[in-house]
Amino acid sequence: MIYDALTSRYTFSCPHRGEEQVALSSFRRLEQLPGPAHPTVFGISFDCGCGAEHPGLVSHDELDWAPLGLTEGRFLDLMTSRLVPIEDELSDLAARRIQAGQWPWSFFCYPEERPRPVFPSAFVLLAPAATGGALGVAVRCPVCSSVSINLVSAEHVDVPFHNDREIGVVEHVFGPDAERAVEEFAQELYSARFDARRLDLQ
Ligand SMILES: [Zn+2]
Ligand SMILES: [Zn+2]
Repeated sequence: MIYDALTSRYTFSCPHRGEEQVALSSFRRLEQLPGPAHPTVFGISFDCGCGAEHPGLVSHDELDWAPLGLTEGRFLDLMTSRLVPIEDELSDLAARRIQAGQWPWSFFCYPEERPRPVFPSAFVLLAPAATGGALGVAVRCPVCSSVSINLVSAEHVDVPFHNDREIGVVEHVFGPDAERAVEEFAQELYSARFDARRLDLQ
């Protein structure tokens, strides 16, 4: 288990420090690895405290479910720090909030002109913005498959159910080609042409 629900941090190895604990907002690139692996594995790179960017591997469960306290048929009871069977999942706050229509993560899909619920596995790229401690995040829409770039707070990414009331949106339609989106993403991020949109899923 590389995700610690108590600190909301993932542990990866660092060639200089041995290991490093980073939040989701320190991820920089995420890519689903090809092949029949179960569970699905994502190759990621993260911005390490040593100043370099390193690769890491994260399973789909750890990416999307571990931050909600749900993993491998069991979930972590944060009150007692004990793993309990998934049958008790429905009493869990996260599950109840999702059933009530609240989403742990969301983004604004620019081509569709609407906010959409999403999971971290839909993130393609993250990059710190030049000013203000904001974070640019490229998200592949689970519905229309296009890539949109939002400018959000780190909490919007790191804290499940924390959705920024207002986010920045890059007014540009990116194709499903992630390679090209990477280059355009960096250019858009530093041009600071963000259009504030209200993100309201209710
Ligand atoms: Zn490092
Ligand atoms: Zn969409």
